[in-house]
Amino acid sequence: MTRLVVRSPPNDNEILPHYILRLSELNRMRNSSNLLELAGMPSNFVTTRCDVSRLSKLLDVPKYILENRATWPSEGDPERLRFGSTPMAMSLVNYSRPRICIRCVREGRTKPEWDVFGNLACPDHLAYLVDECGCRLPATWFRRGPLRCKCRRELQEDLGRPEDVLLRTSQLFSDLAHGRPPAQDAAPIEGVEAAAKLLRFCAAFDHDPGWRATYIGKPSARNSRTAIQKASPILWSWPEGLKCWLDRRRLASEGQVSLNLAYGRLYESMRSTLDNQGLRRVRAEVNSYFGACPEAVFLKNRAMSANIMGSRQSYVLTQWAAKRLGVSSKAVARMVESGQLKGERRAGKRRRHYLVSANSVNELHSRMRVALGFRQVAESLGIRPEELTKLMEERVIAPFFVLGTQSLFDCCDVEKLAARLAKVE
Ligand SMILES: [Zn+2]
Ligand SMILES: [Zn+2]
Repeated sequence: MTRLVVRSPPNDNEILPHYILRLSELNRMRNSSNLLELAGMPSNFVTTRCDVSRLSKLLDVPKYILENRATWPSEGDPERLRFGSTPMAMSLVNYSRPRICIRCVREGRTKPEWDVFGNLACPDHLAYLVDECGCRLPATWFRRGPLRCKCRRELQEDLGRPEDVLLRTSQLFSDLAHGRPPAQDAAPIEGVEAAAKLLRFCAAFDHDPGWRATYIGKPSARNSRTAIQKASPILWSWPEGLKCWLDRRRLASEGQVSLNLAYGRLYESMRSTLDNQGLRRVRAEVNSYFGACPEAVFLKNRAMSANIMGSRQSYVLTQWAAKRLGVSSKAVARMVESGQLKGERRAGKRRRHYLVSANSVNELHSRMRVALGFRQVAESLGIRPEELTKLMEERVIAPFFVLGTQSLFDCCDVEKLAARLAKVE
């Protein structure tokens, strides 16, 4: 077998499919499939392991170098492709509609992260990535050259500057893919696979089932822009971006008794998406977000409530408040109604529920611990109980807590009154 006339080793970061495209054009072939034919490689070589020994001879490049540049499934994990040093779920890479930055290619560069889900722009050139020709054919791996379609036309750049959030997201993918530290306000995600997974979840969540179906079928870069632009803020201004995104997906603001009612399927489905090692810190933040929702107190799922309890919970159920304050649940409900405790009433299926602010329970609790009872106040002031009752009627002193016959007074109030009484005497 004769070697090809023009030979050159793969460039930095050049994956095998980009390399084959480039070399077939350099050798003036009509289509990259001609080179594949010569090399005896199948047309699914991008995602299927195959023999590259003939290609190695044709190009005079050692076999192991070519194999290193291949994007085949990783050994032992057939659902994931080799992506640099880390594997990548097949569903998160779009090799059926490869994308390129025209200006990068003109400068002789290609980037493996172009094909990651949601990567639609080149942060180096502030340009959109392109995945189709003016003739409407997708730019497949089997074209005339890196910048030339099957129809012979040159691939054209999309005019306009990509939205900032698309550029930043592409930059994040690039940083994660090449092991560089991401921007300071980026979500703390480990690995490009985890970032793409979160972004895809958020993009698909907002769209109707029709769009979700096409996105499983991998839509064009141009048709994905709106969805990705809407979902991308979740990756930025950490953790505010995430919180804003979640806030906007709350279905109804009042009267809900469960997270499933307040957030629909978001709450459940997000939990399964976040079950990814690279999204640990995002998961913790999401747990703490849902844990702070008033509805979190109605959670029945033990695992999740355990998770949420680890975060700071802002509301508690009446039972918990009652136990802490040493009063009955009914008393707590009355205190919420009267405004003595901060809280909200929610209509459940069978009965009312009260959500009590944990802070206000704790405040009341610490006040109660150092409070004085009616008799103690009378004794410390050296007056008879009837006289104290009279002072209370005259509103000279008021208990901060009244429950049935029990009244509790704040020590400071008692001290002030004692001082006043001393002056009068
Ligand atoms: Zn570029
Ligand atoms: Zn074309």
